[in-house]
Amino acid sequence: MSEKVKVINLVKTFGDNEVLKGINLTVNNNEVVVIIGPSGSGKSTLLRTLNKLEEPTSGSIIIDNVDIANKNADINTVRKNIGMVFQHFNLFNNLTVGENIMLAPVELKIEDKKAASDQAKRLLETVGLSEKFDARVQSLSGGQQQRVAIARALAMNPDIMLFDEPTSALDPEMVGDVLQVMKNLAKNGMTMIVVTHEMGFAKEVADRVVFVDDGQILEQGTPDQIFEHPKNERLRDFLNKIL
Ligand code: ADP
Ligand code: MG
Repeated sequence: MSEKVKVINLVKTFGDNEVLKGINLTVNNNEVVVIIGPSGSGKSTLLRTLNKLEEPTSGSIIIDNVDIANKNADINTVRKNIGMVFQHFNLFNNLTVGENIMLAPVELKIEDKKAASDQAKRLLETVGLSEKFDARVQSLSGGQQQRVAIARALAMNPDIMLFDEPTSALDPEMVGDVLQVMKNLAKNGMTMIVVTHEMGFAKEVADRVVFVDDGQILEQGTPDQIFEHPKNERLRDFLNKIL
């Protein structure tokens, strides 16, 4: 097992609010790590820091042996290799589905338009939306928009995918299709860090589940260890509330 991401003593403060209080976390290649924890515990901040959407206050984030917490780290290289999917899909409503997916690779001159469009069509197929290339974003359901957002993230050929509560804003009947796309990604070996309240997904797909509370990792283990044999009192409380 080779290390893909190694977070060492990561601290993030906003003003005098210490949101991440020394996170240590290793994610191996091809591993699926699910992060659970109460609202406001710092889960989104952790993901956003991994993607350099937030500057870490202190600590290291080593990805492929490069410390991206270092101010000199090239932010574009970091972002290129890490795809992120948000709760609110953040698609461009004034563009078509295909244009959304093609945007980054074309703007960053990674692909010409033809190659980007071919790839967008391929990706739409993998998320079950092959007929939607020319559709307006607003004509899609929330679940379809989220699958487009996943395709858009994949268009940069990332080797890590971060998901921040990707199904939380969806109507219940849309959730399954999005989770299925994520399961397929996992099966194909994508390294994934997923913040979710979908415990069924965590049990089925996660190699490891990490419980974050108040800016700290209080427990981590296999889904069986976390869900069937939780040790930490606050984890047990949390599970009682959500299960
Ligand atoms: P979670 O995703 O677990 O619900 P967050 O990471 O969103 O938690 O938030 C953790 C804490 O950090 C909250 O108290 C939140 O108010 C604070 N926080 C998050 N982002 C910012 C920001 N950009 N500026 C100030 N405070 C923030
Ligand atoms: Mg959050």
